Amino acid sequence: RSRRGGSAAAAAAAAAAGAQWAAPAAEIARRRNFAIISHPDAGKTTLTEKLLLYGGAIQEAGAVRSRADQRKATSDWMELEKQRGISITSTVLSFEYAGAQINLLDTPGHQDFSEDTYRTLAAADNAVMLVDAAKGLEPQTRKLFEVCRLRGLPIFTFCNKLDRPSLSPFELLDQIEGDFGLQMVPVLWPIGDGPNFQGVLDRDTNLVHLFERGDRTGRAKEMGTLELDDPELPIAIGETLYNQLREDVEVLEGLIEPLDMAKVHAGEQSPMFFGSAMVNFGVELFLKRFLTLGQGPAPRSISSGGNAAEQLTPEYPEFTGFCFKLQANLDPRHRDRLAYIRVVSGRFEKGMRVSHSRMKGRTVNLTQAQQLFAQDRESVSEAFPGDVIGLNNPGVFAIGDTIYTGARRVAFPGIPSFSPECFAYIRNPNPSTYKNYNKGLTQLLDEGAVQLLRERSDDGNGSPILAAVGTLQFDVVQYRLKDEYGVETRLEALPGFNTARWSNAGWDAVDAAEADGKLFGIFQAKDRFGRPVLLFRNEWKLQQVMADLPELELVPWAAPP
Ligand code: GDP
Repeated sequence: RSRRGGSAAAAAAAAAAGAQWAAPAAEIARRRNFAIISHPDAGKTTLTEKLLLYGGAIQEAGAVRSRADQRKATSDWMELEKQRGISITSTVLSFEYAGAQINLLDTPGHQDFSEDTYRTLAAADNAVMLVDAAKGLEPQTRKLFEVCRLRGLPIFTFCNKLDRPSLSPFELLDQIEGDFGLQMVPVLWPIGDGPNFQGVLDRDTNLVHLFERGDRTGRAKEMGTLELDDPELPIAIGETLYNQLREDVEVLEGLIEPLDMAKVHAGEQSPMFFGSAMVNFGVELFLKRFLTLGQGPAPRSISSGGNAAEQLTPEYPEFTGFCFKLQANLDPRHRDRLAYIRVVSGRFEKGMRVSHSRMKGRTVNLTQAQQLFAQDRESVSEAFPGDVIGLNNPGVFAIGDTIYTGARRVAFPGIPSFSPECFAYIRNPNPSTYKNYNKGLTQLLDEGAVQLLRERSDDGNGSPILAAVGTLQFDVVQYRLKDEYGVETRLEALPGFNTARWSNAGWDAVDAAEADGKLFGIFQAKDRFGRPVLLFRNEWKLQQVMADLPELELVPWAAPP
């Protein structure tokens, strides 16, 4: 496929002008990326399939799932996914549509992997909030919405499954506005639902797109459209729904502010769509509108140079990017490790040399770059802002690392972790496997699959404790240690503790509180970097300690030093 075509001449011209690594403006302008946030079962996989279909990236709907099945067949640890019926791994899916390069950052749906999703959202420029129209907002959507809000991401709302009996569109609109304080601006408006679903009104063009039942698998049939004022419309959708639609349109005109790109990009307004991923209705209308309303490759703030607020734009004439995800042994036959890099500025080229932020000027040769499409790896020779590339990682990249060209040192801020809520001692009963155990655990910790704490002890050698957001993460770690490193481990729950807080004030403050007898019933641990982490049994106890001992400076997580 030809996403890199045509830019070689532009690159040569830029090089001649002295900006070897500048990204051509046209490549920046045509890129859009997004991640889908949703509660499991809202239809993320189905929507992804349909989107890829429009990009011509797959030949038939269902291919995402069957590719996933192939992948499961080649990779043993993904047995776990199959057993549990959940998706653990996330990949980046790229496709071209109407001249645009679209990158869909896939995110796992299960809440125990929300940390993975969180890191992926750090690389995204837009979020698509997928809502089951029969259920409205669900817990996982709420949690992920909060993350998008923190990041100030533009949010597009797609209410799915209109082919089934749904809440009224006004109910959905009110619920999201009320709960999130997000101004909803319907772009599409549904006509009926369930068996009476007749289509959607495009409020911009005043065209009604009529829904035809049938073809589930392929591209939506060339569907009929009628003007809102067409005398045929009441006949096509029925008198009752027509009158309802007229009434709705009037209410919306009085109620809804016009769409404002600046507000959309600031995450204050959310363009709202209705449709059905399964029957592929409303999906292409959404995709087209997303291309014009979605935010292009966004600037990122940088933490170096003494000016914390500085934004680095995609036009910055050097290559920069940051690592937001690591994955090992994706293909067990190759024992590979991949680092996923989000390109922020400039042009990536296979074989280029870059500086590494954490290694103080040391340069790294980026020989092997890959773009992932499920299990098929396509070698990438060029990439631009908004793209994600997978680099073979012989241990040099960690989550949060920045790579860059040029003399100026650049470092993007690290990606914070979620506060863990589950804790368990991990034991390796077989000393002969110690080396493999260490290697495997280190690898999985680097990936951010779990965090490792240690019990505080006098000799500094306390027992290791796994800390995770959900217990499923423990299962994955144990499974992978066995499957990939041949090490059988035992977990021993640390019962009763469900909240962790880092003390920014350090050990002296913790010791002082301890000496005053104020840390009774609180478990003292330290993180990988030796910093104090306190584990609490409940929210009430935590609140009490926070109120009594502000000097501990308790925070839900601490970025790597
Ligand atoms: P995910 O967990 O969010 O990835 O959800 P899936 O895409 O796997 O969909 C969950 C279930 O909802 C599946 O049985 C889908 O066939 C079904 N589904 C998805 N989209 C629609 C839709 O638009 N209409 C209907 N009726 N079912 C849908």
